[in-house]
Amino acid sequence: MKTMTCRDMGGPCDRKISAETPEEMMDEAMNHMRTDHPNDKKMTSMSEDEREDWKDGIMKKWDALPES
Ligand SMILES: [Zn+2]
Repeated sequence: MKTMTCRDMGGPCDRKISAETPEEMMDEAMNHMRTDHPNDKKMTSMSEDEREDWKDGIMKKWDALPES
């Protein structure tokens, strides 16, 4: 289990999100963005390229995080 914040993933708040896998983390992050930041178009309306960059960034941060 690893924990990242909304802000770590490009969002505007410090909500902690925990997941077992990076894929789960991204799903949880997107759910949170859509639920709590529906007007944050930077996150909810990414192009395919932007989404790939976003995923790459999260994968790198994920690898650097300690297991908790
Ligand atoms: Zn947030």
